Amino acid sequence: MIVDILIKNASELVTVRDTRRSAKTKGDMEDLGIIRNGALAIEGKDIVAIGETNKILTTITRAKTVIDATDSIVLPGFVDCHTHLVFGGSREDEFIQKIEGKSYLEILQRNGGILSTVEKTREDLASPRVLMNRAQTFLDKMLTFGTTTAEIKTGYGLSTQSELDLLNIIARLKESQPIDLVSTFLGAHAVPKEYENRKADYIRLVLDMLERAKTEGLAEYCDVFVEEGAFSPLEARTILKQAKKQGLKLKLHAGEFNDMGGVELGAELGATSIDHLDYISERGMELMAQKKTIGVLLPGVPFHLMTNKYAPARKLIEAGVPIALATDFNPGSCPTLSMQMIIALACRQMKLTPAEAISAATINAAYALDRGDKTGSIEVGKRADIIVLNIPRHQQLPYWFAMNLVAKVIKNGVIIY
Ligand SMILES: [Zn+2]
Repeated sequence: MIVDILIKNASELVTVRDTRRSAKTKGDMEDLGIIRNGALAIEGKDIVAIGETNKILTTITRAKTVIDATDSIVLPGFVDCHTHLVFGGSREDEFIQKIEGKSYLEILQRNGGILSTVEKTREDLASPRVLMNRAQTFLDKMLTFGTTTAEIKTGYGLSTQSELDLLNIIARLKESQPIDLVSTFLGAHAVPKEYENRKADYIRLVLDMLERAKTEGLAEYCDVFVEEGAFSPLEARTILKQAKKQGLKLKLHAGEFNDMGGVELGAELGATSIDHLDYISERGMELMAQKKTIGVLLPGVPFHLMTNKYAPARKLIEAGVPIALATDFNPGSCPTLSMQMIIALACRQMKLTPAEAISAATINAAYALDRGDKTGSIEVGKRADIIVLNIPRHQQLPYWFAMNLVAKVIKNGVIIY
C-alpha cells in the first residue's frame, strides 16, 4: 500500500483508544492504548493504519512523506473545548489589582471584568477586520501548541448586532485557517451597562438574539454564565429551554465562584457539558454521572485568579463524571492558549495522573464538543489530527511545564507545523 504520510518508530503511539464511543470515565481514563515503537499511516484526511512499526512496514511499501518519530511520542491533537477567543483589549491592569488582593467579583462590581472587555470589543467591532486578524493570530499560536479543534464563544458583544458580528467572525475563521472550530452563542455572559437594573428586558433580548443566530445558522451551542452577578438558574432555564427548542445543544458555566444550582439545571436539561465546577455538591456530581454530562475543568482560571480553589477532579472521577480539560482562553480569567500548561496544572493542582489529563484534553474534550466520532483519538477511520512531541514517554508531558514540547502538527492529514 502507498500512503501520503507514514509516521514510524514513535517511542509511544498514544492512541487514547475510544473503545466505548463515549467520553471516558473512572479507570478508563487511564487507558491510553499505547503502542510502543508505534507507527501510523495517513491517506488524504484520514488515519488508515496504526500498529507496531515493524508490522506496519510489512504492509505500507511507500509513503510520500515519512516522519521518523524516534524518541518522540505521538498523540491525537488537543481539543480546547472552552474558549472566548474573539475579544478586544487585554486586562493586565486588573491582573495587578488581583495581585494586590481584590476579588474577581469586586472588580466586576467596579465595572471592570467582563464589561470592560465588552466595551473594547464593541469599539473594535467598528472595523471587524481588526478583531478577525487578532483572533487569527491567536489561532495560529494555538496550533503551534498542538490544538487542532477548538470551541469559541461569543459574549463580548451583548447587543443583537455585535453578538451576530462575533458569530460571523467565528464563521469566517472556520474558513480561513486549519483548526476546526465549534461556535457557541453566549449572549447571557453578563448584563450590559445599558440594561443595568433591567435584567428581564435583557433576557428578552437574548431570546431575540437566539432566534437570529438560529435563523442565520451561526451557532451550534448555547451557553449561559450561571453565577452571582450574572444569571440565576431560573433565568438560565428560560434561555436554555428556548435554545433547546431551536435545536441548539447546551453548555453552562457553573460553579466558578459559587454553587448556585447551575449543575442541577444543566443535568436536567441534558447539557453536553457543564464547565468550571470549582464549586459543586455531591448531589450535583451524582446527577452529572447519571446523565453522563461532561464536566469541563478549567484549572487555568483559579491559577490566574489566584483563588487556589480548584475543581474536585478526583471526587468527580470517583463519582463517575466524565471530565475534560480546556483553557477557557479569555483576557480576564485565563490568558493562555496552551493545553500543555493546562495539563501541567491539572496534574499538580487537581491531582490528575498524566494519563487521565491526556484523556481529558483529547477524547473527552472531543465528546464535550460532540466531535468524538471524528477526532480525539488515533484510530483507523478517524481524522488525521496528530501531534508529535519531543519527549520519549507521555509521563513527561505534564512534568516539563510552561515549555512547548510540540515538534509537529498534522491537521486533516496535512503537516502544518
Ligand atoms: Zn468561560
